[in-house]
Amino acid sequence: MDERELSFAASAIQNADSVVALTGAGVSTASGIPDFRSEDGLWTEYDPNDFHISRFQADPEGFWRERVDLVEDLFGNDVEPNAAHEALTELEESGHLDALITQNVDGLHQEAGSDDPVELHGNGQRVACTGCNRRFDADPVFERARGGDLPPTCEHCDDVLKPDVVLFGEQLPEHERFRAHSLSESADVFLAIGSSLTVEPAASLPETAADRGATLIIVNLDSTGLSGHAEYDFREDVTEAVPRLADAVIDSDPRT
Ligand code: ZN
Repeated sequence: MDERELSFAASAIQNADSVVALTGAGVSTASGIPDFRSEDGLWTEYDPNDFHISRFQADPEGFWRERVDLVEDLFGNDVEPNAAHEALTELEESGHLDALITQNVDGLHQEAGSDDPVELHGNGQRVACTGCNRRFDADPVFERARGGDLPPTCEHCDDVLKPDVVLFGEQLPEHERFRAHSLSESADVFLAIGSSLTVEPAASLPETAADRGATLIIVNLDSTGLSGHAEYDFREDVTEAVPRLADAVIDSDPRT
């Protein structure tokens, strides 16, 4: 990352009224969470159809049995937030990041201290009741499922519990989609981090922001679907580039 470019990007963030960040799978894989879509991703081992909403509805018991194994593979090694999660929290706490939108379902932004991120695909650390819509902590429910309580049901209404994530075949939650879109429309700076920006709605959010005049800053190892539109296109490891950017913003802030 060129020092001069870094300081220009940092001052764009300092001078913006509204800074919005979007994070994708690249931020999670840096914490050791396997990728779904890459060549040796998890879908070579699991059949996506087994995690389709229609499978959940038709056979919740079988769905849960396989979900327990999948989650073990995803989060079994006690994953923790990495330097990119922490740098985004620091930006937020220093008043330089107004909103965080994430495609990830691991809950690591919250664990790193991020306040109320927009969770486009839900959060796997919660389960939702399909009857009364109450949300619960996922850990004890997965513990019950591992112990043979299949499918786990709601203690209030006895309906089946579902991981609080967007399954294949499901719409993104409307409220979150709307929030993400309106944040993108009003952003002065849009930071896209660890996303290839090819899957909707991740692709259109930074595009919406850029179309309305926002400065687009991308941090991703590889070229992205919007690299040609970005003022700053940092092709680097998110755990190195995001902390450097956050430090440049916070250390050179005339207000502090
Ligand atoms: Zn319920």
